[in-house]
Amino acid sequence: MNEPGRTQTLHHKENTDEPPPDVIDTSKMSAGQRKALEITEAARESGHRESSFVADLFMGRWNPRKIYPYREPDQAEREAGDAFLEKLSTFLKENVDPDEIDRSGEIPPEVLAGLAGMGAFGIKVGREYGGLGLSQRTYCRASMLIGSYCSNLFALLSVHQSVGVPQPLILFGTEEQKRRFLPRVAGGEISAFALTEEKVGSDPGRMETVAEPTEDGRHFIINGQKLWCSNALKAGVIVVTAKTPPKIIKGRKRDQITAFLLDMDTPGVENLQRCRFMGLRALYNGVVGFTDVKVPRENIIGEEGKGLKVALTTLNSGRLSIPAACAGVSKRCLKIAREWSSERVQWGAPIGQHAAIADKIRHIAANIFAMESMVGVTAGMVDRDKKADIRLEAAMTKLWGTEETWKIVDSTMQIRGGRGYETTQSLKERGESPYPVERMMRDARINTVFEGSSEIMRLFIMREALDPHLKVAGAVLNSQLPWSVRLKAAAKSALFYLRWYPKQWILLAGDVPDSMAPELRGHMKYAARTSRRLARTLFHQMVRVGPALEKKQVLLGRIADIGTDLFAISASCVRAQQMVVDEIAEESSICRLVDDFCAEARLRIEEAFRGVRKNADDRGYKLTQEVLKGSYLWLEKGIV
Ligand SMILES: Cc1cc2nc3c(=O)[nH]c(=O)nc-3n(C[C@H](O)[C@H](O)[C@H](O)COP(=O)(O)OP(=O)(O)OC[C@H]3O[C@@H](n4cnc5c(N)ncnc54)[C@H](O)[C@@H]3O)c2cc1C
Repeated sequence: MNEPGRTQTLHHKENTDEPPPDVIDTSKMSAGQRKALEITEAARESGHRESSFVADLFMGRWNPRKIYPYREPDQAEREAGDAFLEKLSTFLKENVDPDEIDRSGEIPPEVLAGLAGMGAFGIKVGREYGGLGLSQRTYCRASMLIGSYCSNLFALLSVHQSVGVPQPLILFGTEEQKRRFLPRVAGGEISAFALTEEKVGSDPGRMETVAEPTEDGRHFIINGQKLWCSNALKAGVIVVTAKTPPKIIKGRKRDQITAFLLDMDTPGVENLQRCRFMGLRALYNGVVGFTDVKVPRENIIGEEGKGLKVALTTLNSGRLSIPAACAGVSKRCLKIAREWSSERVQWGAPIGQHAAIADKIRHIAANIFAMESMVGVTAGMVDRDKKADIRLEAAMTKLWGTEETWKIVDSTMQIRGGRGYETTQSLKERGESPYPVERMMRDARINTVFEGSSEIMRLFIMREALDPHLKVAGAVLNSQLPWSVRLKAAAKSALFYLRWYPKQWILLAGDVPDSMAPELRGHMKYAARTSRRLARTLFHQMVRVGPALEKKQVLLGRIADIGTDLFAISASCVRAQQMVVDEIAEESSICRLVDDFCAEARLRIEEAFRGVRKNADDRGYKLTQEVLKGSYLWLEKGIV
């Protein structure tokens, strides 16, 4: 019997109107929960040729060759990428004032024109469609560069390229759509992506924007309103998702969501309000209204009813640019922290020599290395195979990168003391170096919320991690299925687990490439061993908690975090080894950095395993429900 998740045949088939396999028992869910689950389950990305490195980790399968060696792009790509990044960097330094953009809330048109002129709006778009045709790695390097300097510009370019028109068209567009739209957007026409509504945040099941087909079926009429659509105020064309007529599948009415390409000058489309935020003050974000907007059927991306799949698949690869930009922000923080900690003398020594501050700087340095490595490894997977399954790696990189960056920015603020809280303008007026920590903090906060919040990323990671088990054992626990089906599934899953489970106790270190430096090998062996412990732990929790495991979000979050740290360790070692080979830095210095990161990550992992065994989650959850019921209103007394 094949291990689930290993081959294509075990995945739910693509391009089918069949609902997903009955792997999840929805009988005890509310109607709203069931609907949300059915819609997102039907939209899950599937049909990959093989499981990814991280998907294997959760099943106790250690396959480092899936990410090793860390391959740099080939010479031609590297040279083209370097030349572009050089041009971009010079342009930013000479033409862009990030403080003025933050203050005015506007990006000067000449900045946008300059960026468009050098191809920054179509970095990954193929040359045949007017883009630069560069790799995912180069796109991530560009995101890091721009993100380190001006978050507003990064947000505009990232929304445009990662989720706006280019990415879904590259993935799902017809040749005709690509020829029609890609040259426009690669050339500098701004695009946007409209999914969120007042009632639709993380849960697309509540979508209210509708697209009704005309009588002849050649057009759709869109009515509704989208919230927080970034770039909308400047966009020429957007991707908009809307509910199209439901379909009856297996005797049940299933909601359909479809994605459309829409020119913003189509009659009935209106920017209703510009939204303003704590940071990203020059984001051209707004509420967009649609009143009887007529859009031709040819503008559907993918297929009718597959809009959420288009959106979620686009987000899976698109969300990689955010952690790449976060790596840029974190590098900027390191520069600021390093310079200030050497310059500022208090209590007879530079503050960097006081252990409490030194500890923060060490964290910043080591975590930047891990963050950049996770981005690099995942982007490399895309460059090797455009259809690679990077869902788990991208989600982990986004989750970990954005959360760590927030901590890094916070540490930098602390290191700068009162000056961290002061605006650049005020610092300048006092003749001090205008380090923009205050702005960076305002801009960085949103990263753990948009394009998949941290909570949703953890749920997503665990859904994918559990998938092989659900395929083997889900039917056994599904009370909605007839007993005959459940008994057959029980026999099959017993066979599977009798072979799989004992393997998870084998203490072999796993295959670790001999060519790696000894210090790195040690950490890779730890990751190999711990992947089996992770797989066992997940299995034990499934058996102990049963179908209710899905509700134990804090517990599952710990397991997701263990997997994420194992990926961070592995990615760091793999990239470090390549840097040793390429003689980018001295072996001892690279290994010291990785060693430090891995030591911390291992402590976190052990803590998380302890938390899985013993915790106060249930007690805490009950207390929260009491708080929500109003039993502790007295705690809110004494305030305005
Ligand atoms: C500056 C900015 C730019 C944006 N740009 C765009 C854009 O261009 N296009 C677009 O379509 N959208 C955009 N968004 C929307 C953004 O993607 C959403 O804010 C995000 O998806 C979260 O939705 P929400 O804010 O409604 O939070 P909600 O979904 O209401 O969630 C609130 C909180 O509850 C948590 N939560 C929700 N469900 C669960 C659950 N099942 N389990 C545990 N926790 C849960 C969330 O993680 C969050 O912490 C933007 C938002 C902002 C602020």
